[in-house]
Amino acid sequence: MTAEETLAQIASEVAVCQKCTLHHSRKHAVPGEGPATAEIMLIGEGPGFHENEQGRPFVGAAGNFLNELLAQAGLKRTDVWIGNVVKCRPPENRDPQPDELAACNVYLERQIAAINPKVIITLGRYSMAKFMPGAKISQVHGQMRRVGDRFVIAMFHPAAALHQAALKPAIMADFGKLPQQLEQARAALARSPKTPDANQEPPEEEPKQLSLF
Ligand code: URA
Ligand code: SF4
Repeated sequence: MTAEETLAQIASEVAVCQKCTLHHSRKHAVPGEGPATAEIMLIGEGPGFHENEQGRPFVGAAGNFLNELLAQAGLKRTDVWIGNVVKCRPPENRDPQPDELAACNVYLERQIAAINPKVIITLGRYSMAKFMPGAKISQVHGQMRRVGDRFVIAMFHPAAALHQAALKPAIMADFGKLPQQLEQARAALARSPKTPDANQEPPEEEPKQLSLF
């Protein structure tokens, strides 16, 4: 299967998924969207009202702001893949629960494996916690860190930045750094595409005991 076919397959599974109770309240599941070849994946929290109506991620007010932030980084929405840690809308936009995050995680893992992005941008605390457990957004926002075979940047959630005026200049400055960070990520991954030891067996020890015979 090509990466594109894999993404389509995942989307069709998500559309009928009943692995957690969020399927009861969904109108449309929101699998995520964007090119299978995207170098950047943006991962938010979960669908809100408008996303649930349309089956597409980040199409409400936060989505409009996200489009502006991407433009600030010289990117079009169609250049990046955008999705969420849970694919169905939590009732009243409540926080996703641990069992829901756990149930839905397999879809996101498969999407990441299919796309193999150079950079993952987390939007919001649940997405950040998946890649940088224990990190505090006020301390790490906008910084790029290597996590396994790619890089992760935690950003403030665009909805939070819309509601808290103080965060707006910070999130705009963070997205402004993205072109340079993407260049750095490309260069670093060209030099060392795999994290040392991640997928490699340690070199075999010399069979010293043989010399005894
Ligand atoms: N907020 C999110 O976290 N995700 C969406 O898709 C929309 C708003
Ligand atoms: Fe399935 Fe995820 Fe929707 Fe839960 S949120 S029903 S795990 S697709």
